Amino acid sequence: MKPRRIAAALGLTVSAWLPAAQAQSVAFTFDDGPRLAETPLLSPAQRNQALLDALSAQQVQAALFVTCGNGADRPQGYALAQAWGRAGHVIGNHTMTHLDLNSAKVTLAQYQQEVADCDRITSTLAGYRKWFRYTYLREGNTLEKRDGMRDYLRQSGYRDAYVSLDTSDWRLDEKLVDVLRANAQADLTPIRLAYLSHLRQRAEAYRDLSRQLEGRDIPQIMLLHHNLINALWLKDAIQQFKDMGWTIVTPEQAFADAVYQQSPEKLVAGQSLLLSIARSRGLGKFPGWERLVDDGDFEIEALKARGL
Ligand SMILES: [Zn+2]
Repeated sequence: MKPRRIAAALGLTVSAWLPAAQAQSVAFTFDDGPRLAETPLLSPAQRNQALLDALSAQQVQAALFVTCGNGADRPQGYALAQAWGRAGHVIGNHTMTHLDLNSAKVTLAQYQQEVADCDRITSTLAGYRKWFRYTYLREGNTLEKRDGMRDYLRQSGYRDAYVSLDTSDWRLDEKLVDVLRANAQADLTPIRLAYLSHLRQRAEAYRDLSRQLEGRDIPQIMLLHHNLINALWLKDAIQQFKDMGWTIVTPEQAFADAVYQQSPEKLVAGQSLLLSIARSRGLGKFPGWERLVDDGDFEIEALKARGL
């Protein structure tokens, strides 16, 4: 047993036990791509290229969790996914059609089939790894589903590609698209600032939670999406992390940390691994909890107050 675990078991403050703190680090991961759905401003291929250009400009190696039915099951979308692997990024699996394992209508067998079907496509792409990201970060509404999927992943050699730093970039992306559809000339500055400030708030809050739960700064694994908002401003977001003094690591480096070997007992974990660990340990609603689970409501309300 490690000193930290012993101390944690005894409920002690552990900072004195720990080695000198390393720089806080983060790895970038993107879900739901490549998407062939149309958006304002950029075509699907342009959005894909903008994401890859931002990562390349900032020398970041990331992971793309492919929802095959969003495009990779067709030649055009397959080529966009292939571009990620060829640029040195990891290609993971995020199911065929993004079913919700917590839905009473979705069976374990059906969900496993979704993973297997998507694997038949991703396994032919450059950068393919057996990394699985749960849709909605939900592990199932029953023990049968949760344990059934855990067994299935283990038996098929898949890693549970946890998220520790959950963001609501998707919510701000919806707002961005709505605003642009209503007015193609809209000033996007407030949305850009809300996006950057949201990422910063979540990053700092999950860093604080990591210190509280693990007694240290874990390498965070951040969830973003393959969408317009990141296509426009990912480069700025990466720069903001650098300006905050954070180090960017590869997803592989981050997943090597022991925290990602845990399987929290709490059923219907959902969201960040850190929140699951907190719930498994009975932490309840700690200070700042609301802003970690609010789906970006805070930023959306602030934008509404500005007439957006
Ligand atoms: Zn998703």
